[in-house]
Parts: sequence; structure tokens; C-alpha cells
Amino acid sequence: MSTDSLPSNADAAVITESRDCIVVGGGPAGVMLALILARGGVRVTVLEKHRDFLRDFRGDTVHASTIRLMDELGFGDAFAALPQDRLANFELPLGDGRTVTLADFGRLRPPYDYIAMIPQWDLLDFLVDQATPEPGFDIRMQAEVTRLLEEDGAVTGVEYVDRATGARHRLTAPLTVASDGRGSLVREQAGLVPKEFAVPFDTWWFRLPRFEGERQHSSLMPVFGKGEIMLSLVRNTFFQIAYFREKGADAQLRAEGIERFRQRVAGMRPDLADRVDTIASMDEVHLLDVKLNRLRRWYRPGLLLIGDAAHAMSPAGGVGINLAVQDAVAAATRLAAPLKAGTVTERDLAAVQRRRYPPTVIIQAVQRVLQAAIFGPAVQGKRSGPPAVMIALARHVPAFSALPARLIALGPRPEHAPSFARRPGRTGHRTPGESTRDERSMRDERAAAGERAAAAG
Ligand SMILES: Cc1cc2nc3c(=O)[nH]c(=O)nc-3n(C[C@H](O)[C@H](O)[C@H](O)COP(=O)(O)OP(=O)(O)OC[C@H]3O[C@@H](n4cnc5c(N)ncnc54)[C@H](O)[C@@H]3O)c2cc1C
Repeated sequence: MSTDSLPSNADAAVITESRDCIVVGGGPAGVMLALILARGGVRVTVLEKHRDFLRDFRGDTVHASTIRLMDELGFGDAFAALPQDRLANFELPLGDGRTVTLADFGRLRPPYDYIAMIPQWDLLDFLVDQATPEPGFDIRMQAEVTRLLEEDGAVTGVEYVDRATGARHRLTAPLTVASDGRGSLVREQAGLVPKEFAVPFDTWWFRLPRFEGERQHSSLMPVFGKGEIMLSLVRNTFFQIAYFREKGADAQLRAEGIERFRQRVAGMRPDLADRVDTIASMDEVHLLDVKLNRLRRWYRPGLLLIGDAAHAMSPAGGVGINLAVQDAVAAATRLAAPLKAGTVTERDLAAVQRRRYPPTVIIQAVQRVLQAAIFGPAVQGKRSGPPAVMIALARHVPAFSALPARLIALGPRPEHAPSFARRPGRTGHRTPGESTRDERSMRDERAAAGERAAAAG
């Protein structure tokens, strides 16, 4: 729902409140930030425009550095009990039936030697459950920020609309953190424009059913076709599939129609040909306009941007969630004390950017190399699969696969929970949560209902 279609009493009286910190956007960055700040005694409010976290697919990967963080925060065992799959490596096909391991997470130091595959809505529900007992934590759902409040060049808070009632609210605080994602309204209103990098491909997401007994994958491997790539993630009762093609091909794919699209999918994955008819129309094939960008400056007086709002990542390596979480940890570590004392300055905000900018630049540089070496040539139909030098390295230098594994799973500067936020707790990553088929179906139905609701507005 856009601000245009808010309930009719949107002009109702403005209600004004004040907090230590406002967080715009309840994604991985915003919720993690608020959780840690609240543990540091900060009175923090998260404003999230959606009613719940059950909406479009936005990635499943919880990386090793985030799993370690869960342990440090004292809820590793509860996290491990959530239904999840575990990814042990990332492989590339050689085209002759053989594969080469590009990233072997098993080479990392245990127990943080895997990536947990868990739907983002489950992760967010879980984090909110952990944060709710903290006295300073407050999350308001259906709270859509519509305007930044400013005074003498400094951001002093936000105006938001309660989408359930239409009531307008003003919330003021010494600091507003924008974690409102890659289409950030706050960023736009603050007049900050990210630098864009070229991306050669777009992604289309859709689902195919997964039948009882079909194997769980402990590795992720794309399939290369002529000018196209496909990658499937295993969900409980379905496959979540990403189809990659040259940027801008959306109009052509839609003009070709659903039957041609089904043929493309079946051609690349003959093992799924028996179910391509379940994609009813191209409306079920969702375009992700892939972006790779970053802000030069992540702050202004009274305002800090983190996560996708500061830097949108390419899907290569599936690092967006992890990077957003790491930004949040760094921000909370630096800002909790000055926020509590009411002394936060621009120097504190600059320090957060100084800490998180280098890992962002490194990962985006690696993503651009992967785009140039693998994705670009593949979607342009010039080559299917990785370049020869990469194959030779991966095959003859086994230790090579440890480097991408480390970069993907931990990142160049993994963050640790600050001492004030740590809690004792058992670590549980050796005993993954199992759910019954019925529980899985129920969760998938909830997810589908969420997506339908999101599509409906
Ligand atoms: C289809 C798809 C697949 C992806 N797959 C992966 C993957 O496998 N692995 C991975 O690591 N990353 C993946 N990503 C990227 C990942 O989702 C993001 O990098 C990550 O969610 C960024 O977290 P964030 O908290 O910065 O922003 P977001 O998760 O985008 O959260 C922003 C939040 O702000 C809210 N919001 C926006 N505007 C307002 C407003 N005006 N008022 C109030 N609330 C507002 C939004 O509703 C949203 O909840 C994928 C993304 C997409 C779109």
C-alpha cells in the first residue's frame, strides 16, 4: 500500500512522542540494531510499514558470522531449534557432469562452518521475540514513515502514519537510523544519492512444488543455459527458484509468455519439467531489478543510514542480510552509550561509517569481479560456467575454496556482540531444528498468505 491509499482519516491530529533513537524499517538491520541498543539501555522504537514479516521472498541465508552473534547474544540454542537447512558449500558445474567447489564452508573453523537457510520472516519474528522483553525495545507495525523532521539542518525525527487507523504521529529523537532498504524514502528525503555500479543481469523469482522425499541440498549449485542461469533454494514444500538473464529482458520474457518460460525452465532443469505447469502465469514470476550501489556518506546530523539503505548488494554470494546485520552490530556498539547519555555526535556516526565502509567496498568489489567473470559472460551467452583459471585454482589448489567461503560466510570484518549485550546461553548449532511435514506445510501456507496479502497491496 502506498501513502496515497492510506485510510481516509490520514489528516487526523498529530500525536507527538520522544525516544532516544528511531529506527525506520524492521528488516534484519533495523531489528538487530534495536535489539542491541535496547540491551544497552536505549529507548528505541522501530517503525515498520508492513503488518507482519510475511511478505515477498527476500532471501534465506543466515551466515556464520550472524550465527556466532546469536550465540554471543545468548540465544544460539533457540535459533538452532528453528526449522532450517544447512549449506555446506557452493559449487559450480563444469558442463561435463562434473562440478567444482567454489566455496567450501567446511574449511572454516567449527562450529561456524555452515550457512543456515531460514526464511527471512522466521528470522525477523525470532529476533523480535528475543528483543521484546527488553524494557527499551518498542516495535510499531503498520507504521509508515512519510516525512523526515528537520531543524537547523539536523534531522530531529520522523512523521509516520499508522496504516491501520490513518492517525498521523510525530516521533522525535536525537538520532534517526534509516534501515528502510534499497528503495529508502529516508535517503531520498535526506537528499543522499548512492553511487550506482553496472550490473549485467536481473533476477526473476518463482516457486515450484517440492514433493515428499525430494532431497535436501547441502550445497548450492547454479545451472547454466544459453544466456541464462538458474539457481534453486530448497524450502520445506517448494523450491524457490532464481532465474538470471541479461538486464532489461523483463519485457521480452513477458512478451514471450508463460509457455515459453516453462520451456526455458524445463530445458535447464529437466528434473523439474513435471511441475512447470504449476506456474500459472507470468504474474507468478517476480522481477528483481538487481542493483549494486553505495552511499559515499552514510550520515547527516541526526541521521545514520545502514544496511541496504546505505549499500544495495548484488545477489552474488547472498550477502545482503549478513552485511545489514553486521552494520547494525557496529552501529549499536558505537552508539549505545552516547545515545543513552544523550550525547551522540556526528563523530560517532562517522565512526560507524568508517568501520563498515571498507567491508562493503571489498564485498562489492568481489561481486563485481564475479559479475565480470561468471554472471556477465553467462547471461550474454558468451560462456557458460566459470573461467578456466578459476576452475584450475579450485581443482588444483584445494585451499582456494576456503577464501571465498570465508568471504561469504564471515565477511571481511565480522562483528561481535558488544559486552553490554552479551548474555550467557547454550550454543545449539550442532542440533538443527526439525519440523514435521505438517508444520512445514502450515508455515508455507502462512508465507503464501503473506505474499498474497503483499501482492494485494
Ligand atoms: C528477491 C530477493 C532475494 C534476496 N536473497 C537474498 C539472499 O539469499 N541472501 C541475502 O543475504 N540477501 C538476499 N537479498 C537481499 C536482502 O533481502 C537484503 O540485503 C536485506 O534484507 C537488507 O536488510 P535491511 O534491513 O537493510 O533492509 P530490508 O530487509 O529491505 O528492510 C527494510 C524494511 O524497511 C521497511 N520500510 C521501507 N520503507 C519504510 C517506511 N517508509 N516506513 C517504515 N518502514 C519502511 C520495509 O518494509 C522493510 O521491512 C534478497 C533480496 C531480494 C529482494
